[in-house]
Amino acid sequence: MTAETTPDRTGADDTGADPRTDSPGDAPVLRARGLRKVHGRGDASVTALAGVDLDIAPGSFTAIMGPSGSGKSTLLHLLAGLDSVTSGTVHLGDTALTSLGDTALTLLRRERMGFVFQSFNLLPMYTARQNILLPLELAGRDANEEWLVQLVDVLGLGDRLTHRPAELSGGQQQRVAIARALVTRPDVVLADEPTGNLDLRTGSEVLALLRTSVRELGRTVVMVTHDPGAAAHADRVVLIADGLVRGDIDHPTPSSVLAGLDALRPENEVA
Ligand code: ADP
Ligand code: MG
Repeated sequence: MTAETTPDRTGADDTGADPRTDSPGDAPVLRARGLRKVHGRGDASVTALAGVDLDIAPGSFTAIMGPSGSGKSTLLHLLAGLDSVTSGTVHLGDTALTSLGDTALTLLRRERMGFVFQSFNLLPMYTARQNILLPLELAGRDANEEWLVQLVDVLGLGDRLTHRPAELSGGQQQRVAIARALVTRPDVVLADEPTGNLDLRTGSEVLALLRTSVRELGRTVVMVTHDPGAAAHADRVVLIADGLVRGDIDHPTPSSVLAGLDALRPENEVA
């Protein structure tokens, strides 16, 4: 195995916002090689991923799309170290996730990854502010007030910080969840159908915020979605079918994404 350059981890020191200066030529934040996942055993086994290679560039916004059952969630879970691989490797920077034990993996996820789910997953008894600060609390790190103010400002949460989730709309709850995902200034934010429970307009706002977190806050976002309109907010769309990467669209538009998805349909396959 060759030596690799260590990407800068300026996010670890809590000295304020660190909009990254990385250029697209930099080493990937996330790198998957030969990723395979077989769920279950024997006759009941399902090959969810059949050998995926994927590089995620720092400061990019990537959408993963594909038909239902194509392996999108499985891929996101493996990239996040939330599920074990059958074979293959995942690196976050120079760290091989796929070689880490449970404790190291938990710490790495806590320190260097952020998560946004379809179902917000906020703690009901905590205020918005407490929910946002939870990852720092778990990591035993102090809140950087400057960064918190910037996050809350960019995400438009200023007057909502003392509210509990039940007192917030779905869109506001998802904004709190995004702030929570960003508060540790993670190397990468992974989102599975983040707009799945939101109406069209609120969903667009949330996507614009993910976009903003990449452009203005220097983050890297990987999002699974089945919505071509949502995917068009990304810099890049990776198309998955039958557990394989089957397409890669730069600067996607809703129509180029639809055309890409159409080309995945069996009747359009080249023999
Ligand atoms: P997507 O998110 O694209 O809809 P998934 O990654 O959830 O696809 O699933 C890919 C395939 O793996 C599907 O056939 C699904 O039924 C199967 N699968 C996913 N998770 C499990 C599991 N925990 N046990 C068994 N099969 C699973
Ligand atoms: Mg899924």
